[in-house]
Amino acid sequence: MRNKIVAGNWKMNGTLYESLDLFSAIAKRKNEFPDNVEVMVSPSFLYLKTFIDQGVDHIVVTAQNCADKESGAYTGEVSVNMLKSVGIKHVIVGHSERRLIYGETIKDISEKIVLVLQNDMIPIFCIGEELNDRQKGSHFKVIEEQLNSVLNLAPELFEKVIVAYEPVWAIGTGETATPEQAQEMHGFIRQKLSAVYGKLVQTTRILYGGSVKPGNAVEIFSKPDVDGGLVGGASMNADDFLAIIKSAG
Ligand code: PEP
Repeated sequence: MRNKIVAGNWKMNGTLYESLDLFSAIAKRKNEFPDNVEVMVSPSFLYLKTFIDQGVDHIVVTAQNCADKESGAYTGEVSVNMLKSVGIKHVIVGHSERRLIYGETIKDISEKIVLVLQNDMIPIFCIGEELNDRQKGSHFKVIEEQLNSVLNLAPELFEKVIVAYEPVWAIGTGETATPEQAQEMHGFIRQKLSAVYGKLVQTTRILYGGSVKPGNAVEIFSKPDVDGGLVGGASMNADDFLAIIKSAG
């Protein structure tokens, strides 16, 4: 059995004090987290150390991104080693906002994944097709291509990867994939990964992301290849986030 994960991605929202208030509203209710659900929150880089210093068990503080270079003259970037030095163990890599707004390529994302894994950290590797890909019927092809970023890893490194399937047309739009569409793609992803890594993939967590809300989480999370969710908007409301966490239990 795979434990579920519910990870909140707060993106570029909230001042330090707003973010700390939200964090403590969630942390106060950690006793309500189901035993089989791992909870993660991902605030701004700036606040990671402050959050980690709160010493809250049962909430894993996660980074939203990292640089694709180890160190050096890359003004404004944050390296994997820097994240590691403040106690971060998980990094979201390849979010569609990074791919589409900041032009990250499959190669950039592959490099980040290798850096994260080589530093003994865990990538939450995001993939997802755009609306026109789905309308053209090329969504499986797009996902297959994006999966290339994790197909050349040593099995002992691949084993740590968490995948997040996030159809771009469902992110922040209020539009959600149906539970059947989610299961269809998650099953496809597991099958493609299994062709390379075999049985190892039985333990790979594949999260769904895209307008997950308290009202749709139970149905989506009940699908056999959906191992929880990466949640944007709804993770910034403690009651909604708690309801989603409980839905995964
Ligand atoms: C996300 O940004 O990863 C996301 C899934 O956002 P939302 O839940 O708001 O669609």
